[in-house]
Amino acid sequence: MSLYKMNSFPGWYRCVKFDDELNVEAVYDMPVTRHVNCPCFQGNKSTCRHRTMVGIFEATHRVNTGWFLDFDKNEWKRPLEREFLDEPNLTFKVAND
Ligand SMILES: [Zn+2]
Repeated sequence: MSLYKMNSFPGWYRCVKFDDELNVEAVYDMPVTRHVNCPCFQGNKSTCRHRTMVGIFEATHRVNTGWFLDFDKNEWKRPLEREFLDEPNLTFKVAND
């Protein structure tokens, strides 16, 4: 199971991927120029799951809310009571999915 969370900042989105125990597995900082760009291995393609998720989170008003998306199951999980993962200095990692 992979859960994702989406935050937005002026000019970019941050998609954070978590494992089953809610450890951070990967962070994707996606700058928005004319389009959303993604640093993942699909970043040179026209889209990827992270950019797809920007649209999903925006459409459901869940950006910056702490809601988690299980992308593969298309299920939402409630935010944690304590938001401990929004510190700006997360270690930058990129995984494959
Ligand atoms: Zn991506």
